[in-house]
Parts: sequence; structure tokens; C-alpha cells
Amino acid sequence: MIDRFATIRERMVQEQLVPRGISDPRVLEAMRTVPRHLFVDDALQSRAYGDFPLPIAAGQTISQPYIVASMTEALGLQDDEQVLEIGTGSGYQAAVLSRLCKKVYTVERINSLLASARKVFDLLKYYNISSKLDDGTLGWPECGPFDAIIVTAGGPSIPEPLVEQLSERGRLVIPVGDQYLQTLKLLELTEDGRQIRDLERVRFVDLVGKHGW
Ligand code: SAH
Repeated sequence: MIDRFATIRERMVQEQLVPRGISDPRVLEAMRTVPRHLFVDDALQSRAYGDFPLPIAAGQTISQPYIVASMTEALGLQDDEQVLEIGTGSGYQAAVLSRLCKKVYTVERINSLLASARKVFDLLKYYNISSKLDDGTLGWPECGPFDAIIVTAGGPSIPEPLVEQLSERGRLVIPVGDQYLQTLKLLELTEDGRQIRDLERVRFVDLVGKHGW
């Protein structure tokens, strides 16, 4: 199948990701491969590879390509991990992750979004993604522990259930702050316990739930 967006994706990688320091070759390859335009409304397809977030249904957003790449790179995936995502939204971030690890579990609280994301996963034959409708701030304890957890909505603090579902050397990325601006935080479980680093300033939609807003 001829993919008329392949050239545009390559340009996105070269102009938006590489100059800003995304250097993991596997992450760049996943960004080059996953057809982002299929995760947005037909009317927005021509803008899907722009350097900005876009609206999806239910007042939510699909993050800017650079933010997706940056959060993905922070997880340091090698290939054999189990990854949990909170906030499926369009499904694009889960799709990118699915190219880089063994299995992705993704949780969304809005049914219509989950339904359309699942359709795209099937269309692309991305069969290593499982998803469910739930409050993701509680994690997905039956399927854990997870080597990496990514939260793609902004919350007031790091939900404790998520930290508890990390495996021994697990990593968690999450935007934490107020409802206007957040800091992307990377929590790593090490021999000495939890280490938390601030990555960059970001703006995400609200993480709504028991351990969110
Ligand atoms: N990763 C998505 C980004 C979607 S925006 C993508 O690639 O498109 C964030 C999403 O988080 C929204 O769809 C919102 O409904 C969802 N969300 C917010 N709070 C949640 C919660 N507690 N559990 C699950 N999903 C949540």
C-alpha cells in the first residue's frame, strides 16, 4: 500500500524531533512508521503531522508529536516490556508504544474515544494492545506489574496505585501541576528507592479520577 504520508512523517522526524534532541533510533523509527493521520478526524488529516496538538472527540487532545516522542523516549523501552498507559484518547501514543515493547495496556474513561481507538488498532493490526474503560488513576492491578507507566493527562500529584504497580526497576512519566500548566515528571524505582526528575513544562488535559482532579 502506498502511504502518501510517509514523506511528511520523515519530515516531522527531521524537523521536529531530531533538532529537539530525540535520539533513540527505535523511537524515531516508531514515529516514522505509525500513521498519526489515522488517529485524528478526517477533516484534520492534512494537519496531523504539524508541530502542535490537535483536538479529538469529547474535548480531549492528541499531543504534539514531539511530546509523544519525548515521553516515549523517557521510558527507555528496550523491546520486552509491559507498558501501561493512562488516557488512551485517540490511541496514537499507545500505537507508538506498541512498536517498542512487548505489550501495551491502555485505560480510557470516555467510551467513545476508546471505541474509535480500538478500531484503528484493529485496522493497523496492532494486536499487542489491550484496552479497557475505567478510571486509570487506579492502574490495572490484574495485569501488572508494569516495566513502564505513562500518564497522558495532567494530575495534581502522582497517583500512588500507579507507583505500586511498577516492576522492580520501573519507570513512570506523568505531567503534574495545576489545570493550566504542568511539569513532566519521570519517576524511577532504583536500589535507593524512588527518584523523581523534572523533564519539561507541558500542558495536558485533566486527569480525572480518584487520584486525579
Ligand atoms: N494518549 C492520548 C492523549 C489523549 S488526551 C493520545 O495519544 O491521543 C488524555 C486522555 O486521558 C483523554 O482521552 C481523557 O479522557 C483521558 N483521561 C483523563 N483522566 C483519565 C482517567 N482517570 N483514566 C483514564 N483516562 C483518563
